[in-house]
Amino acid sequence: MSLIIEARNGIITDEMKKVAEIEGVEPEFVRRGIENGRIVIPVSPYRYTKPCGIGKGLRTKVNASIGTSSDIVDIDMEIEKARIAEATGADTLMELSTGGDFFDIRKKVIDSTTLSVGSVPLYQAFIEAIRKYGSVVDMKEDDLFKITAEQAKLGTNFMAIHTGINLFTVERLKKQGRFGGLCSRGGAFMTAWMLHNGKENPLYSEFDYLLEIMKEHEVTLSMGNGMRAGAIHDSTDRAQIQELIINSELSDISHEAGVQTIVEGPGHIPVDEIEANVILMKRLSGEKPFYMLGPLVTDIAPGFDHIVAAIGASLSSAYGADFICYVTPAEHLALPNLEDVRQGVVTARIAAHIGDMVKNKDRQQDLDMGRARRDLQWEKMYELAIDPKYARSVRDSRSPNDEEACTMCGNYCALKIVKQNFNFER
Ligand code: SF4
Repeated sequence: MSLIIEARNGIITDEMKKVAEIEGVEPEFVRRGIENGRIVIPVSPYRYTKPCGIGKGLRTKVNASIGTSSDIVDIDMEIEKARIAEATGADTLMELSTGGDFFDIRKKVIDSTTLSVGSVPLYQAFIEAIRKYGSVVDMKEDDLFKITAEQAKLGTNFMAIHTGINLFTVERLKKQGRFGGLCSRGGAFMTAWMLHNGKENPLYSEFDYLLEIMKEHEVTLSMGNGMRAGAIHDSTDRAQIQELIINSELSDISHEAGVQTIVEGPGHIPVDEIEANVILMKRLSGEKPFYMLGPLVTDIAPGFDHIVAAIGASLSSAYGADFICYVTPAEHLALPNLEDVRQGVVTARIAAHIGDMVKNKDRQQDLDMGRARRDLQWEKMYELAIDPKYARSVRDSRSPNDEEACTMCGNYCALKIVKQNFNFER
């Protein structure tokens, strides 16, 4: 029985209880959120997963995407990335390999983590079509659904599926044009397939069949944003909004059928359009959990796109996004390495926390840090830091003469002077 059906029957499952305990809310709050589609807990009948609640009233969650490319296939490195992402505090992983043996890589990554793992079945379907028939446009619809079911049986918890790209959406794209084309691999593959074959997207036309697969294997459906802008100047355009409207309609059908559902959002958008995008998505989808990809708020900072995305993600989260995808310093430049993954997760966690300070009024850790800084309690400061090991290593690498201060102001430590002369106990 799916979590939605149990929630509808008034049953509070172990996963709901665990999420409530982690989040500091009542189990009934989680049950009700799942029942009305505002919260999901991606589970799998095929393996144990650490329960992770995503949605309204809960902490913003961070996803780390890993996976091989056609140029670099190093399974050990991908497993290590999964471990680093989990150890650094990612809430979910997406395994997005596009090179090597898909089954083998995904199984090994899934076996190496207790986090919820997501996938994009479309990647495998299209790349196997290239390997078998020589072109993405020759992909067979049956293969796509078969691969989706196979990935589910490996223990995949959620899948990004490009349901909202239909012929009407593609028409909007063709009429309007784009400065930056399409940056979503799934979106680009599917659009090419539809235009070449003159056919409807099977994920849209056979949506009921897709839901049967999702339901049978209890996969959470994350409705992909294949029309998201890959350049700031294409943000919030007609094709993107059309896809959002279609996905929102389908998200109601999906929820009604008992499939937990997330809706994904853009992409590259400037700061002044983030609030509108979040409001629009939440309003159209009936407040389904919103998975914000980025957003990247400028296009001119390759090498620093983890910072660019963190600025966008913090605002998205503050306005109501529930789930953000990390961006690494390698974005737009190369396949991330281990250090890129670590930095990507830490930066996205900072963004999620900044959002939660506004959205959920979650400010206790900041209050504790303020006090620890005032009182020069270095061990406490490390304990409260988002990356304790890194914070300690920076101070240790430049040891101060005065152990109470740091080398920034040394003998003239403002906090020490204040501590000696005032009593600011609060
Ligand atoms: S030395 Fe300066 S920067 Fe360092 S703790 Fe004191 S006031 Fe803060």
